Amino acid sequence: MVAQFPYFVSALECGMTGEPLPVGELHNLSPKGYPILVRYDLPAVAKAVTKGMLKDRPQDMWRFRELLPVERSENVVSLGETWTPLVPLPALQKKLGGGEILVKDEGRLPTGSFKTRGLAMAVSMAKELGVRKIAMPTNGNAGAALAAYATRAGIESIVLCPDDTPVVNIAETALQGARVYRVNGLINDCGKICGTGKVEGGWFDFSTLKEPYRIEGKKTMGLELAEQLGWDVPDVILYPTGGGTGLIGMWKAFNELEAMGWIKRKPRMVAVQATGCMPIVKAYESNARHAELFENARTVAAGIRVPVAIGDFLILDAVRDSGGFAIAVDDDAIDAARTEVGHREGLLLCPEGAATYAAYVKALGDGRIAKDERAMLFNCATGLKYPMPEPTARLNKDAPIDYAAL
Ligand SMILES: *Cc1c(COP(=O)(O)O)cnc(C)c1O
Repeated sequence: MVAQFPYFVSALECGMTGEPLPVGELHNLSPKGYPILVRYDLPAVAKAVTKGMLKDRPQDMWRFRELLPVERSENVVSLGETWTPLVPLPALQKKLGGGEILVKDEGRLPTGSFKTRGLAMAVSMAKELGVRKIAMPTNGNAGAALAAYATRAGIESIVLCPDDTPVVNIAETALQGARVYRVNGLINDCGKICGTGKVEGGWFDFSTLKEPYRIEGKKTMGLELAEQLGWDVPDVILYPTGGGTGLIGMWKAFNELEAMGWIKRKPRMVAVQATGCMPIVKAYESNARHAELFENARTVAAGIRVPVAIGDFLILDAVRDSGGFAIAVDDDAIDAARTEVGHREGLLLCPEGAATYAAYVKALGDGRIAKDERAMLFNCATGLKYPMPEPTARLNKDAPIDYAAL
């Protein structure tokens, strides 16, 4: 028997206009076409929970249930969404002469990426609201997480990915029970098919930010890291930004915790992108509220190859309101960062995670991050899912071996 928790959702509202929408019903975008945000009765949450009460709960993403949208515990769909560790990079901190560097290593989650947080929550809510069939366009990790959680919940899932999606992502998605199709087009072409399938096939459209609850799942990263730091935050968070769900979600977490009086300050939020796909960086630099479509998007960091983000204004608001910034690094810097963190610290990052380290080095160099600031980088997936340089060294057992040279 899973414990029931009191339920504190007070409203759903349009992320742009604040227009209220009915709770307990299925939603995609708001009537005005923007992502929907979940609101809670925060004074009531603050009265109902203490920091001490959390200590007795499992260390997983469900522990702060009063700030999550699932009403009935039996609807929680879980594969063991454990806390992820904060791994310091002491050798590189010493080399760079800056403040402490912590990596939140999200590669430890089920399905090997932080997409799990968003999809575990969104699928749980789909279960609660009676959804039978879910469809999603994806570049990889999100499809794998949807497949796993939908299967777990007994919900059908259809995953559409561009032709050039890494085989490992397509294969893991299929093995976890989704019907996965390669589409001869880009992610937006896959999205169009999902939109039509909604009408023709009775699918529920799970495209990024087109349902309200993935943000709430990703929000748990902010709740979790604050608790791990003793209800404090780092000075600056560097987040590899594609659709921006995690950056938006964490900023929401910090605002909720601040409103409850649980944290006294908020971090600066930094959106990290690749120079081959940097719509948010361009919008940030030109003081725009929305980003323009980034043509011919290309980067080794597939998770942040998102040429147009429907939550662009929410990302940019969070970056600006927090006193952060948006920064791009090129693929060579991403590859070099991945090698350096692996060689120097023994931590294998995914390319998107490596991008945050490259961005940190760049921003420390140009003064946008100060030497005394404590920084947190997000490694959003296990490095094992991604191509690695081919090892070339060989040893001939039948020839003399120069042991001193090995
Ligand atoms: C999805 C993804 C991202 C981007 O996350 P958003 O919250 O959508 O911006 C970054 N890295 C990896 C590995 C991803 O799978």
